[in-house]
Order: sequence, then C-alpha cells, then structure tokens
Amino acid sequence: MYKDIVEFVKTLYPNESFVPLHAPLFQGNEKKYVDDCIDSTFVSSVGQYVNKFEDMMCAYTGAKYAIATTNGTSALHMALMLVGVERDTEVLSQALTFVATANAISYIGAIPAFIDSGKENLGMCPKSLEEFLTENTEVRDNATFNKRTQRRISACVPMHVFGHPVEMDEIQRLCKKFNIPLVEDAAESLGSFYKGEHTGLKGDVGILSFNGNKIVTCGGGGMIITNNETLAKRGKHLTTTAKQPHKWEFYHDEIGYNYRLPNLNAALACAQMENLPAFVENKRQTAAEYRNYFAKKGIRFVDEPKDTQSNFWLNAIEFNSRKERDEFLEYSNNNGVMSRPIWRLMTDLPAFSHAFKMPMTNASHYVDTIINIPSSVRMNK
Ligand SMILES: *Cc1c(COP(=O)(O)O)cnc(C)c1O
Repeated sequence: MYKDIVEFVKTLYPNESFVPLHAPLFQGNEKKYVDDCIDSTFVSSVGQYVNKFEDMMCAYTGAKYAIATTNGTSALHMALMLVGVERDTEVLSQALTFVATANAISYIGAIPAFIDSGKENLGMCPKSLEEFLTENTEVRDNATFNKRTQRRISACVPMHVFGHPVEMDEIQRLCKKFNIPLVEDAAESLGSFYKGEHTGLKGDVGILSFNGNKIVTCGGGGMIITNNETLAKRGKHLTTTAKQPHKWEFYHDEIGYNYRLPNLNAALACAQMENLPAFVENKRQTAAEYRNYFAKKGIRFVDEPKDTQSNFWLNAIEFNSRKERDEFLEYSNNNGVMSRPIWRLMTDLPAFSHAFKMPMTNASHYVDTIINIPSSVRMNK
C-alpha cells in the first residue's frame, strides 16, 4: 500500500527526483519587480511595492485594510496587541497549530489556553470552545474571566489548519456572547473562503504569512487584514515604530515595533500575488486527484469542510494508527517522496506544558495519524 501511494505521488510530480512537500514557484514577474526595486534604491521599509502589495491583498481578499509586516508571527503579535491582549491575561487557541500562534501570545506576556480540534475539522472545535467557556469562566464587567486563575480571557485565536477553514460562524457567535475579541490566524489559508468570504475577516483582525513554504512567498513576510479602520490605523502605527508622520521630526508617541515589510520582499510578493488565483486553482486540481485516489484506497483524505472553499495548502491523509503512520513516513522519505507528520500538540512543548488544557481527544488522535503529502503547485517552471 505504501509503495502504491508513493508511486501515485510521483505520477503527479514526474520531474522531481525527490518530491518535496511544498516548493515555491517563481515563474512570473518576480525577477523584473525585484530588479526594478533595486534600481529604485528603495529596498527597505518605504517604497511603492509595499503599498501595492497591500492594495493587491485588499482586492483579492475583500479586506478594507491590509498592513504588510516582516512575517506572519509579527503580524500575529500585532493583531493580539490591537485587540487589547495584555500581560497576564489568557488567550484561547488550539493545541493543534504551528508554534507561532502560541509564541505570539507569549511575546505579550499573555498565557495561552488550548482548545481541542473537531472530529472532522482539524482546527478549533466550537463545541470544545463552548464547553471551556461555560465550565471554566465567569462573566463580569462585560468581560470573561477564567474562574480558576481569575485572569481575563483577552482573545480567541482559531487557526485554519492546512488551509481548511474552521467553523467561524459558531466561533464568532461564542466570542460575541462572551465578549472575547476574535483574531484569525489565517497564515495557511490565503485563497481559502468560508461561506464565500475570505478567511481572516470574520474576526476583529486576521493575519497571513508569506513564509517560503506558504502558498505564495516573498522570502519572509506577513499581513494584518481587517475591516476595522481604527485597528488598521493603529496597526500601521505600531508596526512602523509608532512614529508620527513628519518630514524630518523623530517623534514616537509610544513603544512601537520595526515590523514593516521591506520593499524588496514586497516586490517579490506583488509578482507572486499576480499568480495566486492560478496557484489556488492548480492546488485544488491536485487535491481532486488525491481525493479520487484515496477514496479508491479507503484512506481518509482531509477534505475541505462543508460551506468552505479551501486553498488545499498542504494535502493531508489519515492513517489508522501511529504505527502505520510511522511506517509510511519511513517508506516515503526513503523512496523519493517527502511526507511529514502534523505538529506536536502545543501542550506537549516545554514552553506551554503548564498551560490550561482540556482533554485533547481529537487533536491527540490527529498527531498520531495525520501526515502531509506533496502539495506544491504543479506548473511548468
Ligand atoms: C506560517 C505560520 C505562521 C507565521 O509564520 P511566519 O513564518 O512568521 O510567517 C503563523 N501561524 C501559522 C499557523 C503558520 O502556519
């Protein structure tokens, strides 16, 4: 069975001697725009490509405002600050995520509390969230507090795992009910839509990432997206050292951050954005190939949830046991096809082992059984 799967993956990527999990593709105006950026001498945090990249992101996602940052982690850090996360408050997220989500919470001195994944959906489970909120919190002064720690719950951060949107309507309803700001970690879901709306926009703020392995990349980069003008203005201010605009004065009105995306990276990003619709379509075709193949094999292919359109950033399949998973990892990586297990649970990492956790029935199961398989855009270079 393992051999069959590996051979099938090779038919999808016939030109690779070792098929990587996710490789970037630069086949458009990347060199042209980067050259142009160098010629302009505006390679740093000021320049037309940064603004253009933000405009392109607004046009693509439908966001009213977009603020480009140095990476997705810094965008998350800022997004949390924008909604009022403070030291010694608690931020709800999911145990099954990339470490950046939990790290950004910790940069502020806030403490993460982790929610389980869904039975079908790999991301935050609304039922588990509701259970946590009803059993462990109390509402007073228009805010929600953890009964045991007496800390305020200052934000909720669901993450759209591998590009598949979580059940945002339900999560949003709970956040509203408990007066908890909602930040969407949409780092993996550029090009994914929930009920026709781009991910990252249902909450107060959303963030995107353009790291080397994401659907489009600019080396390193991130973006804050929001429809809230006040938050957008403050986001721009905080990410640009909190400097009041002036031709020559250096007046910074609070502690700011040097998080603005350099123009050089933005030049690369603009070229990548031109190809994004084609990339999404191509990845959805690859997912369809996998879906058909694994249906025949009787293996669960992690598909897009109901009411969503996923970018299928990383395709994933589920084995029956950890043993099968390990055997496949061993076989595929030794035979020309890269595969990788999902992350470890945040609650199993030393930095977060003391965090509040509920029983992680679904998330633990996924850690044991899910692997990612090659998912790069398939186009001629
Ligand atoms: C990639 C990613 C980020 C941000 O990563 P950067 O490398 O800092 O751009 C954040 N959260 C998740 C879930 C990610 O996958």
